[in-house]
Amino acid sequence: MSEHEAYGHKDHHALIKGSTADWSGEDPVAWLAEADMLEADFPHAAGMIMETFREWIENGTRLSFAENWEWSLFDYKGRWLADSLEREASDNPLWEQVASVSLLSRRECSLQIVEDGAEKSYMALPVGSRSRGEIFALLGCSMPAVQFSAGGKNAAEAMAPHFRTIFYRRFEYSFISDLASVHGDGESASSHHSLLFQMVQRMHDSIDVRAVLTEVFDSLEAMFPDAELTLYISQDQVSGFSRVKPLPTGWEGDDVRERAFKDGTVSVRLGTGDNEQMEIALPLGGKQGVYGVLHLTQRGSCDVNRELLGMIASTAGTAFENAKLYERSNQLVRELRMSNDLTQRLNQSLRLEDTFEAAFEELMDMFEADYCCILHFNEDKGGLEAVACNHPALANEIIEIGRGLGGKVYETGESMILSDYLDFNETRSKLMDLTDSHSLIATPLSVGGQVRGVIMLSHQQPHFFSYDNYKFLQAVAGHIGLAVGNALLHAEVRRLANRDTLTGLFARHYLDDEIKFRQGNDFCGSLIVVDIDEFKIVNDTYGHQQGDKILKQVSEVIRTSIRGGDVAARWGGEELAIYLPQLGLDQALVVAERVRVRVQQETEPQVTVSCGIADWSWTEERISVESLFYRADMALYEAKNTGRNRVVADRKKAEAGWINP
Ligand code: GH3
Ligand code: MG
Ligand code: MG
Repeated sequence: MSEHEAYGHKDHHALIKGSTADWSGEDPVAWLAEADMLEADFPHAAGMIMETFREWIENGTRLSFAENWEWSLFDYKGRWLADSLEREASDNPLWEQVASVSLLSRRECSLQIVEDGAEKSYMALPVGSRSRGEIFALLGCSMPAVQFSAGGKNAAEAMAPHFRTIFYRRFEYSFISDLASVHGDGESASSHHSLLFQMVQRMHDSIDVRAVLTEVFDSLEAMFPDAELTLYISQDQVSGFSRVKPLPTGWEGDDVRERAFKDGTVSVRLGTGDNEQMEIALPLGGKQGVYGVLHLTQRGSCDVNRELLGMIASTAGTAFENAKLYERSNQLVRELRMSNDLTQRLNQSLRLEDTFEAAFEELMDMFEADYCCILHFNEDKGGLEAVACNHPALANEIIEIGRGLGGKVYETGESMILSDYLDFNETRSKLMDLTDSHSLIATPLSVGGQVRGVIMLSHQQPHFFSYDNYKFLQAVAGHIGLAVGNALLHAEVRRLANRDTLTGLFARHYLDDEIKFRQGNDFCGSLIVVDIDEFKIVNDTYGHQQGDKILKQVSEVIRTSIRGGDVAARWGGEELAIYLPQLGLDQALVVAERVRVRVQQETEPQVTVSCGIADWSWTEERISVESLFYRADMALYEAKNTGRNRVVADRKKAEAGWINP
């Protein structure tokens, strides 16, 4: 049987126009779809589309937010083929409409209807061939209409290209295996050719980049047992192979590697008299470009079959590209799932500490980092605070802006990737030194367009993070920044709601709540009520505005006369109150006296205050906020009545067996 006859079979390899090498230059799917030959000439197509669908449903669509979505599959004429519920036939005529509109318009199409009282969206997504966009299948997706409008539409659109990638991988593999079997029938197969076909078959059977490259190395080694083999490729594409080196950034003289890389052709230099080294360079490339160069060197010369080498290169390139695309698609779906999980997790709480904690845990998980450190600018402490970190020596550490790697990222607002800290001499980093890390990715944490912190992830292994990781961290930092912004805003609203705007002291309701909480948890506490003496006269003399200023001055005296845990509040017009947790009457007297003296000394124009004090302790029969205030007010009343500018404590309780009102 001649070669031509072999390829003349009425099967899909019939499309290989006479030569084994041609298939990789064309996009067979586009060709089939355009020629309307999916049924007539390629009977496996529908079956393969269905297998693809099953694989895709299994791997790609299990996103937590998409759990209840239903997916359907239609052929290129809009006929129902299968669905995610594994039904035998479609029982929903709506699908026909959506699919046919989508086919006519050659774009996605959706429909909203009310079903069982709930609004539901139906969407059809055409899947087109890679090169020319001919539609060879349609994906249908139904989901609740609320989800559809809240991002579900975009998510479904993002998931469809993954389907296409899986299909192509299957298609090209089946294509190759058919080709190989036809070839196997031919008795003329040379040992090189059968080696090639074995290699092609195994390469297309491998869907991960490492397996493809292992196959390439093994096969070339078998063909050129004495040669030394190196693959030059950008570091980020593959790691962990000793024979993989980074592509040179510049070339010197006439280099076969340069020719192969730039022209995409096989390049050979035969050894000459003194230099017996023979060099062969094969481009590793696919439809989207050349990724690298396979370089063989060998002493002496041997037969070089350029055509065969060209076929190997193109097969290896296509397999590599498919594996890369497949990896990238899976990566995209994973990233989609992870950022969805992250946002859900971040939205669970509006407390800033919870937000950082959630972000920390999710980041560790997502990037499989050894260490994570989230820095957040702390205004009071004037530096970057490590708000979440799994190295104990760094937790709650304050880092100066501009210092260390984190400080640098904060200052410049630029992300950073280090593949090996040992090679980096510009700046020392506490995180990297303490944790013995080699790899780092770091990105600024921006809130509302302003850098507010830094996220740092490290790993002890060098070259651990990929460029994709680095880009993804930046995207994720956006989500975290939004959540931090929400939490900050919420904290600010809460702070404002609890504050009095004129004096900056707490508002009355906050003091009430705080005392109530304390009475439920502490053993004792005291309340001081402060009232400005003859304030009406002050107002009448200097005016209301000046009166307000004095009120602020008195508030400032109070604020600076108490400790961190004490609560100062504006109780009423010009009445202020201080709650002192865990302090008894005598200690409260000292505080009140300090306030009284300082007000007299520090106010301008000068005013005086009177104070009433009451305390409570757990031994009392009935404890309440109201009675505490009532008694403090009574003491104040006494202070006013006995001449003002004085402090009176409520001792009646002890003396006369005070009964709570
Ligand atoms: P005393 O407490 O010594 O008995 O005399 P007083 O004149 O201060 O009397 P009282 O506490 O009953 O009067 C409160 C006065 O304080 C009434 C009002 O004119 C003034 N005041 C209340 N709130 C404000 C405020 O926010 N700003 C100003 N400027 N004045 C206020
Ligand atoms: Mg007063
Ligand atoms: Mg008053």
